[in-house]
Amino acid sequence: MTRIRLHDTMAREKRDFAPADPARVTMYVCGPTVYGRAHIGNARPAVVFDVLARLLRHVYGEKAVVYARNVTDVDDKIIDAARGEGVEPAEITARYERHYLEDMGALGVQPPDIAPHATEHVSEMIAMIARLIGTGNAYEADGHVLFNVPSDPDYGALGRRDRDAMIAGARVEVASYKKDPADFVLWKPSPEGMIGWDSPWGRGRPGWHIECSAMIEKHLGETIDIHGGGLDLIFPHHENEIAQSRCAHGGKPLARYWVHNGFLSMAGTEKMSKSLGNVVTPAELLAAGHKGEVLRLALLSAHYRQPLDWSESLIEQSRARLDRWYRAAGQVRAWTPGHDSTAVDELLSPLANDLDTPAFLAALSTWINAAFQDDAETNAEIRRNVLAALHVARFMGFLTEDSDQWFQGDGDARIDGLVAARTEAKARRDFAEADRIRSELAKEGVLLEDGPEGTTWRRA
Ligand SMILES: [Zn+2]
Repeated sequence: MTRIRLHDTMAREKRDFAPADPARVTMYVCGPTVYGRAHIGNARPAVVFDVLARLLRHVYGEKAVVYARNVTDVDDKIIDAARGEGVEPAEITARYERHYLEDMGALGVQPPDIAPHATEHVSEMIAMIARLIGTGNAYEADGHVLFNVPSDPDYGALGRRDRDAMIAGARVEVASYKKDPADFVLWKPSPEGMIGWDSPWGRGRPGWHIECSAMIEKHLGETIDIHGGGLDLIFPHHENEIAQSRCAHGGKPLARYWVHNGFLSMAGTEKMSKSLGNVVTPAELLAAGHKGEVLRLALLSAHYRQPLDWSESLIEQSRARLDRWYRAAGQVRAWTPGHDSTAVDELLSPLANDLDTPAFLAALSTWINAAFQDDAETNAEIRRNVLAALHVARFMGFLTEDSDQWFQGDGDARIDGLVAARTEAKARRDFAEADRIRSELAKEGVLLEDGPEGTTWRRA
């Protein structure tokens, strides 16, 4: 059996992964707040944890893995968006959840086993808040219920920040009703006409953090195997989830492994985020003619804990790699299908090592490219490796199309993409790359003309 190792944010090191119950491996990943279109940075955790879920299923069995990813469908940003459009919040959340599933589906992300919605778990949240009041970890003040951070001596263990940094980092609202500036909201009042639920503390709505604690408890249990999400969720969201769950469960830890993915940046700038305005969405990239598998491969090109710099040339390199895989798949179509399980495990071993996708993809390419050797068909070892590699590529969400279909109708959008990649290379003074793209296109009979309005192309 393949042995998985994962970097655990809590332990700050790679650890051997051993689920509490190998017959029921539980994973929870914080999902989208559905008030707008996801950007490609939002897609990174969806793709990374999709790969981890597939790996876990390979190792522990299809039915042994329970993967939950929530949908935050009550939030002030949703309320604002609904107000802006003059519609009910439910209309906003239904629309953007549908878009999210379409966009992630195009990137080969399989739906999680459970997708709990916050609005369907308000009674569980109210029950957990009541318990936290009972244990002395939360208090009611001015229509709000707050978690009292100093009541939890272990608060902040995940990020290991000092208290002042946490208060500054959380940008917490200083409010007169708080006992401590670090205290965070579990429940807040909803005025007349705003979405709300009846509770022992009046009509209101939950704070963000409590939904994950309540839904994890309901669907996965008090302590889960893996909790995942983006690096930016460590504080305050995951610290708060940990505090709520542990205090509600007599000190039992919320998760046994904490896995966090790094940021995605745009052309070497800052982290991609809506507030910075430097976003590109999967929907836009797909509309521009890029294939979902290409975007999936690009998102996996860097190790998940490292930053990933998103650029046209990254997309182009990913496209070129997939083109080779598809060409190989077409070439071996007549071979007797099969896959040797030892070879499959060998290929998956870099992934089992803390999801080392760069090493994994490099190995896949090496094995797949052997299909182009002259003796490929007669050499048993090459055949074994190529077939195993193609099988693994499919298992990880690639090569979902037929090879002919992949290359069909594929002319102009790909050339436009290459021209854009060349323009970008020139802008960063990478003239070697710009020349390489020009000569690659020239070989296909595509000629470029640089003019004051930019670059145009024509077929010779
Ligand atoms: Zn969460």
